[in-house]
Formats: sequence, C-alpha cells, structure tokens
Amino acid sequence: MRRYSAKSNTTNQPLPVALLMMTSTEIQAACGVMCINRAAIVDNYRMLARHAAPAQCGAVLKANAYGLGAETIAPALYAANCRIFFVAQLSEGVALRKILPTDAMVVVLNGVMPEAMVFCFAQQITPLLNSIDQVMAWLTLLETRQQRRAVMIQLDSGMSRLGVMSQQLMRLAAIFRERNWPAPDYIISHLANADRPDHALNMVQHARLQQAKAVFPSSRFSLANSCGMFLHLGWREDLCRPGIALFGVTQPWFSRLLKPVFTLTLTILRVQDVPAGTPVGYGSTVTATRPLRIATISAGYADGVPRNMRPPAGVCWRGVRLPVLGRVCMDSFMVDASAVSPTAGDVVEFIGTGQTLEEVAAACDTIPYEIMTRLGARFQRIMQPAGV
Ligand SMILES: *Cc1c(COP(=O)(O)O)cnc(C)c1O
Repeated sequence: MRRYSAKSNTTNQPLPVALLMMTSTEIQAACGVMCINRAAIVDNYRMLARHAAPAQCGAVLKANAYGLGAETIAPALYAANCRIFFVAQLSEGVALRKILPTDAMVVVLNGVMPEAMVFCFAQQITPLLNSIDQVMAWLTLLETRQQRRAVMIQLDSGMSRLGVMSQQLMRLAAIFRERNWPAPDYIISHLANADRPDHALNMVQHARLQQAKAVFPSSRFSLANSCGMFLHLGWREDLCRPGIALFGVTQPWFSRLLKPVFTLTLTILRVQDVPAGTPVGYGSTVTATRPLRIATISAGYADGVPRNMRPPAGVCWRGVRLPVLGRVCMDSFMVDASAVSPTAGDVVEFIGTGQTLEEVAAACDTIPYEIMTRLGARFQRIMQPAGV
C-alpha cells in the first residue's frame, strides 16, 4: 500500500507526522483526518497553570474535550499535574473516572439530580451542586455514609443558567450552620461575558462572588474560564477552569501565549470545469457568472461543516484559499478552484494555518466552540506521536 508522501501533500504546510504514517487508502477511507497534537495541549495547560498560580488550575474537558477526545487528553493533563477535571454530564464523568487516578477530582458541571447522587457518590464523582435541593441531598448523603467528599456549589452570579442565587446565600449559610458543616469546599460561578472585557455584568458577577466570600470566608472560590483568567489577575481566585484555551483558541488580549493543537484535512472528491450559467449545489443558490473549476470536498454538515458556511471560508490547496460555492451538503461541499489545478484525491486543509478555526467560525456566524464540538464522528482522529 502506498504511504502518504510529502509529494502528494497539497496543503502547503508540512504534513503532521501522524498523517504521513497513514496510507493513502486509510486517508481516503475517512472523509477527513483530524491530527491532534497532545503535546501542544499539555504545553497550553502548563502555560495556563503558570498563569493561574498560586491558584489551582483545573481543565474543562466537557463534550469529549471539545471534540478532541477526553480519554486520551485527560491522562496527559494528569501527568502535567492537573487534579481537577470538569465535564458537563454524569456519563462523561463516569468515562473520565475510569481512566483517572483517584486523587483526581471529576466534577459534573450540569449537576446531578438527587436520585442520581448515590450513583455519583459510588463512582467518586463530585456533583456541582446547582440548587438548594441538590445541596441538601448531597449533605444528607454524606452524613448517612459518614464519608468525607468535596462539596462544590455553583453561585448564579448573573448568567441565569444554573446555581444558587445570591439572594439564597443566607439560606445556604443557615443550612451549613444547622447541620454543623464548616463550609462548602468550593463555591464557583461562571461569567456570561468573559470574552468582552468591558462588559458591565463582569463587575457585577465578580462583586456577587465576593459577597459569597463574606458569607463563607473559609471556602475556596472559582470564577474564571479561559477568558476570565486574563481579565483581571484577581479573578483567578483559588481555582481556574480553562476549557477552550487548552486547545489554543484565544482572544486578542491573550493571543500568542498558546499553541494551536489540531488540524483537519479533507479530500477533493472531484474536479470539474463548468461553463458560465451553470448552477451549483442545493437550491442552486449560486450560478457561475464565468467558466468555473469546481472542486467537491469530502465532508458536509453531517460532519459539522455548517450548512451556512460562506466565503471567504472554504479549503486551502497549496496555500491558496478556495472559497465555498453555494450551500454545504450533508456529506460534501463545493469550492471555487478556478485559480488552481488540483486533482481528485488531493488532500486539502480545512482547519489549520491556511484557514484557522476562528476564520471558519466567523464565516459561519458562530464561535470556535461550536465548530469544534460539532466536528463529526466520521473524521478519523489521530494523535500526533509524542516529541514531534
Ligand atoms: C464550559 C465551562 C468552562 C470553560 O469555558 P471556556 O470558555 O471553554 O474556558 C468553565 N466553567 C464552566 C461552568 C463552563 O460551563
């Protein structure tokens, strides 16, 4: 079988070594290949942990580590001394618990209904307690079992999503007093506008967390997600919770500190020249105004390429951007390849240095988070071998 060679590389970038190790048949068998650089994720974690210090730095690996594969990334972060892992759902927590040593804390951000708390307890998973009811159920369980487990409570400081409201802090304090509990181990809250440094709600949310500090002076506090860590140094509190920054996605005020961690390459399925007047794609939303060379690309909205993706996004062939033409289909999309001479079978870059994740997201009216977490199961995910 022919190995994929640098000669057939049409992405204009050095191909990741992991991709070079695949045969061309293997590459063609998948509609796309995600090369994931775990060492870069670990480097990003180390950078974030240094920035967080003396606060602790956890890692948010919800939605399968934003689509990149929690089960391979979590142990690498543990080896880099990460000890608090956040996921969104209980089933994600169960999967992580199986592969992480017991001294790693696994927290379920969406909380756990009182009925599932016994299971949660048995699995050594920490529920983020998102209501007074959940707090009472967890404390009662710990009292019955007479075992020490972390008590982590979310304060809804202004996002109106999950957690105990500021107005309930006195009630919460009374519950801890009546039950003779010293204090929650952690109180966390989440910023609704961490990506907008000058948004007025940021200050309000920070102030509400300080209010909770006055009520529970011996608890540890956490406010910052990735962006929040870089808003104000004081907002790092006792524990930071970066997610997207682990994967190299930044905002202008902290770019260049982090490394990109994955590339996604797709394949050209067909190259066809058509005359002016030829309609392209579903709904014939585009008609060639001049002769066009159309390349059809191997992934579509079923793979998480948004149906509404617009130019200038498309793919990169030998460093040349080929913009999308018409609507993205379920399993493919067409690009304008008139400026170049590609052949069917060529590998093109969809996410990488020639076209960044941020650029794709912007051309789809969305954010990098949504693009990443929707990248589909049909892409082959391969880990860049360590040390390259
Ligand atoms: C998703 C999430 C995070 C991580 O957010 P990023 O913006 O990806 O860093 C942190 N905390 C909570 C509660 C979250 O839901």
